[in-house]
Amino acid sequence: MPLYSEDPSVSLQGSPAPLAGTVAATDGDPRAHLLNNATAEDYRRLVAEGVARVARTVAGTARPFTGVTPEELAPGISAIDLDRPLGDPAAALDELERVYLRDAVYFHHPRYLAHLNCPVVLPALLGEAVLSAVNSSLDTWDQSAGGTLMERRLIDWTAARIGLGRAADGVFTSGGTQSNLQALLLAREEAFRVLRKNSPTPPPVSAMLPKLRVLTSEAGHFSVLKGAKLLGLEPDAVISVPCDGDRRMRTDALARELRRCREAGLTVMAVSATAGTTDFGSIDPLPEIADLCEDAGVWFHVDAAYGCGLLASPTRRHLLAGIERADSVTVDYHKSFFQPVSSSAVIVRDGTTLRHATYHADYLNPARSAEKRIPNQVDKSIQTTRRFDALKLWLTLRIMGADAVGTLFDQVVDLAADAWRLLAEDPRFTVVTRPALSTLVFRYAPAEPAGETAVDLANLHAREALAASGEAVVAGTVVDGRHHLKFTLLNPETTLDDIRAVLDLIAAHAEDHLAAARLTGSPAA
Ligand SMILES: *Cc1c(COP(=O)(O)O)cnc(C)c1O
Repeated sequence: MPLYSEDPSVSLQGSPAPLAGTVAATDGDPRAHLLNNATAEDYRRLVAEGVARVARTVAGTARPFTGVTPEELAPGISAIDLDRPLGDPAAALDELERVYLRDAVYFHHPRYLAHLNCPVVLPALLGEAVLSAVNSSLDTWDQSAGGTLMERRLIDWTAARIGLGRAADGVFTSGGTQSNLQALLLAREEAFRVLRKNSPTPPPVSAMLPKLRVLTSEAGHFSVLKGAKLLGLEPDAVISVPCDGDRRMRTDALARELRRCREAGLTVMAVSATAGTTDFGSIDPLPEIADLCEDAGVWFHVDAAYGCGLLASPTRRHLLAGIERADSVTVDYHKSFFQPVSSSAVIVRDGTTLRHATYHADYLNPARSAEKRIPNQVDKSIQTTRRFDALKLWLTLRIMGADAVGTLFDQVVDLAADAWRLLAEDPRFTVVTRPALSTLVFRYAPAEPAGETAVDLANLHAREALAASGEAVVAGTVVDGRHHLKFTLLNPETTLDDIRAVLDLIAAHAEDHLAAARLTGSPAA
């Protein structure tokens, strides 16, 4: 008998479902809330009802955001008594619409242009629904079975796309922050290993730790700093290497830092290159950095949290040339593979280095299970209980295929190139770099001269006013001490007309602000 029977009374399409009463209230027996043989049909109806509401909301999204403020939203959420359940799922969903769905930020809207959030592909949502219901935990084989093997296939698939060779391995993680942390952990342990090997009397960790350094560019991600801190490195252990005009790590500066560290008796435990910086989408010169790391015997990490989408691109894979020489790579499928949060992985050239994350527990993964070659992914992970996030990517590859994913990414990269041209020709704006990927950092610059501080404030105001209006959401960042605005384009549905319209809105808000400041004689004007 199939687990989920077909019930023609539940329709996922078309006609708006009645809001209340479709889903049975389960007052009384708390066991009625558990998913099991008896409640499989309730599960199906309940989730169908929730999905139907989300589908209606998504279909009817007129703006990426309502512009709601924390002050407006907080009272309604504070007023909810969490100790008094509504009992009725339909009522809870009504409440959810009010406190969450109505005012959420919707990444699928073509005028959401802010952060590295992607619209998500349907096969991955299907995967999400399956993985949370089955609820496999990928730490051990005995909690996941096939899930473990499928995750391993996807790690191998990704490693092959990177070109890491047959000894490669890796593991899914919660995100790029965790992937970078784990890569740095492995790099630190490898640095210790080499230091111990090269020393007649192996130095204690307390002597080695303060001498460790990590080099990353000034456009590198702050998770490298967090990772270094968590790993016990000194506060100044992460050295920021200057970038060129395109915001790529300067290799002459990197060479100089490597030399300086060596002369100072310091150990560079890793160089973290970025393939797709968060602000600029710039890709560090990977082949040259690989050469320098090889010469210096330094762990070469590539943070491709953003740029990993190029691994699937039918036309732009060459932009990642050199990544195949990395010792470790961070990939965020939840950025450029159009996967829902969370879905990320750390991939390493030499799978044996993952042993640095291995601990055995008698109750879970005793050493004898490794001897018996039982595939326990916890041996490779810094997490224990872990979602089967890999299933989302699995169904994406099995339904759409990698080319389709890469084509979506190509489309936003093309869009960014067109949008750059638009910005470069627009006298109202200055644009920082020509994008290699899909971000644009720019600044409203008025025709009438105004002080830099006034222009800073006008740009800040434009961003806030735009978000408050809900017409569009854009990001902001600081470049060379000046406030800039930023588009992160990850939605293939966004058109050049959307970009044009949003630029007009930004200019109008910024002009309003400058005009008001001039009227009031504000010192900032
Ligand atoms: C987003 C990002 C990260 C962090 O990834 P999370 O998934 O947000 O933890 C790391 N590095 C780069 C370059 C990023 O863009």
